[in-house]
Amino acid sequence: MSKEKAVVVFSGGQDSTTCLFWAKERFDEVIAVTFDYGQRHRLELECAADIAKDLNIPHHILDMSLLNQLAPNALTRTDIDITEKDGEPPSTFVEGRNLLFLSFAAVLAKQYDARHIITGVCETDFSGYPDCRDVFIKSLNVTLNLSMDYSFVIHTPLMWLDKAETWELADELGAFDYVRERTLTCYNGIKGSGCGECPACKLRQNGLNKYVAKREAGSK
Ligand SMILES: [Zn+2]
Repeated sequence: MSKEKAVVVFSGGQDSTTCLFWAKERFDEVIAVTFDYGQRHRLELECAADIAKDLNIPHHILDMSLLNQLAPNALTRTDIDITEKDGEPPSTFVEGRNLLFLSFAAVLAKQYDARHIITGVCETDFSGYPDCRDVFIKSLNVTLNLSMDYSFVIHTPLMWLDKAETWELADELGAFDYVRERTLTCYNGIKGSGCGECPACKLRQNGLNKYVAKREAGSK
C-alpha cells in the first residue's frame, strides 16, 4: 500500500494545531503549510515554525503578501480596528482567504503526491466568514479535483465542533496542555491564554472554561 500523505493548512493557532495532531494520528506523512500574508503579529509565523519543529513536521511558509495588496484588513493593518457589526462579516474577515489558501495548499500537496488536505475551518462558531462553511469546502474540493485531475480529499475535523469540543478533541489527542500553552490565537499577538480581551481570546477562553467544567463534572 502506498503511504497516505497529508498537507495541513497551519497557522500556529489552537484550531490548526489541533488539526496537526489529528493528522499525525491518521496519516503516514504530514506536511504543514503556513501562509505569510503580512499578519500584524509576526510571532504567529514564529509560533507556527516552532510547533512544526517540535512535532518534527516538514513546514513550508508561503508568501501570500499579495492578499494584503488586494484587500487590506484588520489582521494585517494596524490602522484598521477589529470591529464586529451585526449582519456583517467582522473586519478580521479576509476576502477570499480560504479559497486562495486551500488552492495553494492543493498545488503544494500534489507536488508531494499528498491526496489529503486538512483545514481547521469551522461552521459552528460561524463568525460570518462565508469561506468557513461546509458547502464552500465541498464545492472547492470538487473544483480542485477537476482543475488538477486528482482525487484530493479536504478534511475538516473541526467543522461541526464548538470551541469546547475542539478542546476536548485536543485532549483526546493528548495535546491539551500543548495546545493551551504553545499556540497563538489572540488578535493582539499574545501566546497561550492571550490578552483575554479580543474576540478570539474570548471565544477560546469560553470554550476552555466550558470544556474544563465538563471534564471536572465527568471525573467526579
Ligand atoms: Zn487576545
